[in-house]
Amino acid sequence: MDDMRLGKTGMKVSRLGFGGIPIQRVSEEEAIVVVQKCLDLGITFIDTANAYTTSEARIGKSIKGRRGEVVIATKSDSRSREGIEGHLSMSLERLGLDCIDLYQFHQVSDFKSLEIVLDPKGPMSVLEKAKKAGLIKHIGITSHQIDVAVEAVKSDRFETLMFPFNFITCEPEDELLPLCREHDVGFIAMKPLAGGVLDNVTIAFKYLFQFPDVLPIPGIEKPHEIEQIVQVLRGSWGIDDAERTEMQRLRAELGNRFCRRCDYCQPCAQEIPISWVMVMTSIIRRMPPEVVFTGIYADVMEKAANCTECGDCEERCPYRLPIREMIAEQVRWFQEAKKEYEQRVAT
Ligand code: SF4
Ligand code: SF4
Repeated sequence: MDDMRLGKTGMKVSRLGFGGIPIQRVSEEEAIVVVQKCLDLGITFIDTANAYTTSEARIGKSIKGRRGEVVIATKSDSRSREGIEGHLSMSLERLGLDCIDLYQFHQVSDFKSLEIVLDPKGPMSVLEKAKKAGLIKHIGITSHQIDVAVEAVKSDRFETLMFPFNFITCEPEDELLPLCREHDVGFIAMKPLAGGVLDNVTIAFKYLFQFPDVLPIPGIEKPHEIEQIVQVLRGSWGIDDAERTEMQRLRAELGNRFCRRCDYCQPCAQEIPISWVMVMTSIIRRMPPEVVFTGIYADVMEKAANCTECGDCEERCPYRLPIREMIAEQVRWFQEAKKEYEQRVAT
């Protein structure tokens, strides 16, 4: 697999990485199989996080004896010195490593958090000390908020930035990616399939592979999923007319009514899991109706029906989505579909 340089870290990594969120959902055996499949296919960048429950330990088990083949990145969402110190030693232990290649501040998506992270006496000093002690090699940051990410890159304190990037969430193309190039900050693309909303793997990755200095890290759960993406990487990345038309159609369809699942709209006084509700249509498409209209999905939509239209969430959404309108649409759609399903079952 072709390599790329990950910004000023100077590390060489494969053009495709691995995101360690979904391996929490499968059994440990399945998780190890999928991580090792990635290594066998030549993937040399694996990302995880302290917050991803079993992910670090499973990755640790998967790379035993193969440490030299792979760059390991993890992250902490703690904003305190003590918290990040604790997370770092936990990550080293779970991963079974003496040194982590890239340690990132996780989800720094508001200016207050960025200020804390940049404070010379704050958690950054813990990571700088860890770097000198050889416990970590490089320091990065992850964010969902473009203005915060821009400031983080400009600060020149981070060697990498992880940010959502796909052909729907393509805003980084304009300012953020060029800025990363200017500051030699490695760009890691999270949510290459828009958090599972994009089904067309081929066009999603053809789009991202156009950027030779962007490292996509799809969250992979099954070996065939990574094989499919590697096939795109090995083929021609040229986007043909039909694919371009499809991209335009999806952009128009999803456009500025596309929820990035960043959860900045929370908290909701009615405890509505807004991002779930917003993407319910796409979740439901993949599920059998008997699962969709009972249990957890039905509970979520019941809560959504209690929306008071207070509008607090819309003020917090960085993408200015018409959340109230979209929730009402989703609720209407769900109730109608449920009614139809119940009538079908009754006859
Ligand atoms: S508008 Fe609805 S979803 Fe948004 S915060 Fe208010 S109650 Fe919650
Ligand atoms: S509605 Fe807006 S803030 Fe909430 S998860 Fe979606 S994109 Fe993020």
